Amino acid sequence: MGSPLYSSQIKHCPVCRIALTTSVWLGIEIDLCTQCQGLWLGCGELEEIELRIETRRRWGLQLDCRLGPP
Ligand SMILES: [Zn+2]
Repeated sequence: MGSPLYSSQIKHCPVCRIALTTSVWLGIEIDLCTQCQGLWLGCGELEEIELRIETRRRWGLQLDCRLGPP
């Protein structure tokens, strides 16, 4: 693995490689990809949202904590 390409403050979509749009949803900071409609969450953020939503799978959420090597 090389050195980090991006700053820690700006996240990029692992799929599209474009900058994610940061938004606040249900009081939780989330990162949205406007191209693939992905919603990228940290693992801790997911836990927070799970407390609020039971139907998250309907949203097609993509969780960066589940991403692994191809
Ligand atoms: Zn994307």
